[in-house]
Amino acid sequence: MTTTDTHCPYCALQCGMGLRTVAPGDTPGAPAVEVVERPGFPVNRGALCGKGQNAAAVLAGAARLSAPLLRDPRTGTLEEVSWERALDRVAAGLGDVAARHGREAVGVFGGGGLTNEKAYLLGKFARVVLRTPYIDYNGRFCMSSAAAASRAAFGVDRGLPFPLEDIATAGCVILAGGNPAETMPPALRYFTGMRENGGRLIVVDPRRTRTARHADLHLSPAPGTDLALASGLLHVVIADGLLDREFIADRTTGFEEARAAAMAHWPERVEELTGVPVPQLREAAHLFAGAETGMVLTARGSEQHSKGTDTVRAWINLCLATGKAGRPGSGFGCLTGQGNGQGGREHGQKSDQLPGYRSLTDPRARAHVAGVWGVDPDDLPGPGVSGYELLDRAGTAGGVRALLVMGSNPVVSAPHASHVTDRLRSLDLLVVSDVVLSETAALADVVLPSAQWAEETGTMTSLEGRVILRRAAVAPPEGVRSDLYVLKELAARLGVGRGFPDEPEEVFEELRRASAGGVADYAGISYARIGAEDGVFWPCPDAAHPGTPRLFLERFGTPDGRARFAGVVHRPPAEETDARFPLYLTTGRVGSQYQSGAQTRRVPALNAAAPGPFVELHPWLADRLGVGEGQLVAVTSRRGRATAPARITDAIRPDTVFMPFHWPGPGRANTLTNPALDPESRMPEFKVCAVRVERATEE
Ligand code: SF4
Repeated sequence: MTTTDTHCPYCALQCGMGLRTVAPGDTPGAPAVEVVERPGFPVNRGALCGKGQNAAAVLAGAARLSAPLLRDPRTGTLEEVSWERALDRVAAGLGDVAARHGREAVGVFGGGGLTNEKAYLLGKFARVVLRTPYIDYNGRFCMSSAAAASRAAFGVDRGLPFPLEDIATAGCVILAGGNPAETMPPALRYFTGMRENGGRLIVVDPRRTRTARHADLHLSPAPGTDLALASGLLHVVIADGLLDREFIADRTTGFEEARAAAMAHWPERVEELTGVPVPQLREAAHLFAGAETGMVLTARGSEQHSKGTDTVRAWINLCLATGKAGRPGSGFGCLTGQGNGQGGREHGQKSDQLPGYRSLTDPRARAHVAGVWGVDPDDLPGPGVSGYELLDRAGTAGGVRALLVMGSNPVVSAPHASHVTDRLRSLDLLVVSDVVLSETAALADVVLPSAQWAEETGTMTSLEGRVILRRAAVAPPEGVRSDLYVLKELAARLGVGRGFPDEPEEVFEELRRASAGGVADYAGISYARIGAEDGVFWPCPDAAHPGTPRLFLERFGTPDGRARFAGVVHRPPAEETDARFPLYLTTGRVGSQYQSGAQTRRVPALNAAAPGPFVELHPWLADRLGVGEGQLVAVTSRRGRATAPARITDAIRPDTVFMPFHWPGPGRANTLTNPALDPESRMPEFKVCAVRVERATEE
């Protein structure tokens, strides 16, 4: 038996684990590996959540695709075909749409779970082979507001600009809209360690989550009011003389603008807007400002709003005003969600970016990347549109008519999902590469069964900017191919016979050159180094460089080295409650499912732990509606209706209901969500919309 050191297929913590080969069982398709602890990996020290412990189950199982599928135009059903035939059909279809409607009628939608190599090659494929500007990915739905805010404030976007271990050294942490006790339990030890060291934890969440139960103080603002809350905290800091004036003078610009904006958020007004009592607001401001060191960490709860970027800027303002950035034990960070949400946005999957986190509109960046790719910079397309806009316009005049989806399931995970489903159905050609027949794949004209995680080698970049190596432990099933192979074969069929290797390390070597000199510089990182060092933090510009676990200690990443305050003010959610829709809906995750659930819903142990959607509501509201525990309720927004059993708990505000978003069908939470976009990040407003709730008798 051999054990391969690798990492979990799921979230951005990228826990280390071992995969031990075991004798194949009696059942065909039974896992040939089992998950074992890897205590030497520093991030999780052997600990895994239920998803990680059961990760081997996704490698086998009856749901696994094992041959390409092609939709038969006569019967409308998906039929197994050879790889040759499937790839010929995809290449011909993409070429045909481009010939009839122009190359801008072809688009690509990637995923935050793809390895760096796949994300890189997918971006290159879109821009060099398809020559389309229309590429984006589902990470747009994840942490794009934190990315936009960090870039504006610090000049660099790296989820955490410090290692996770620094959390345990902070004097006070504000965790805004994150629930790691549920979503990444092994990370909780950093927060409990911080409290054992005397630090204080403040959790901001409309629900008293499992994480909130570990907090010294839980603030429960109304959904969509975090900006007001953060600005109210800054107001108290200013009014009570808690500013770090030396830090503001030495390392920042723009404080006066932020101060003026914060003064409009006096405590009584903030209480009115958020529902957070003034004494709690004052207590939180004094706890945070009074601590020697401190951090604000945001996650989707604060970020997935039509004002998500400004909300994160407000949290950054608080850090800067109290001197809690750019020094050990202090700073702003974002708890990235998807496995490679960080790397996925660094290597060219985003509509406005080139590898190395370079801007697609920067002539020098274009010249550098075009040089690596061996093309004329003028031939590189310009920026396209964001993920939701790409899907929203699909199949319409001016939108894409052919779409390649790689590692994403927008039918479940996109906002206003029924509309997105209709748009996908209207395409001339939908191609989906995935490991199972996801709800999006089920709509496709061609489905390509892809190798996954333990079946192929590739790098991922965790939420702390640590580039790690997932090593192949088993061969993919017969009939399954890697996404790199798909891109190589399609490129060749579309006339680009070079520059698309399907060996991961070869792709990574090119990625290193493409990223060299960029913000996310991987030039000094190699597979050998990652293996020897348990990962390497970017930027790492050359082989002798030690990597950069902590950013901003000397200067921030802006041209003048100073961090930027922003004058940001509260504004209501894009959709407010009214007589017809009197409640807020907020959406989120449960511990035993991951994202759209395409993989985890097919793992028996996880499915048993979290078998279906539910609607969480307060006893007061349940009483008014005449709803008992487990009874079916209907939640209706301006976009549709979803039904699920009631789960009654006083851990949620009486004016708010909560649904997890992992399931399709009648209980699909994203049928309800609002696709209103943040003007900068183009993040949809997943976290708040107006709904009504009623008893239901049928699904
Ligand atoms: Fe996997 Fe995340 Fe769970 Fe770790 S916390 S085992 S990376 S899902």
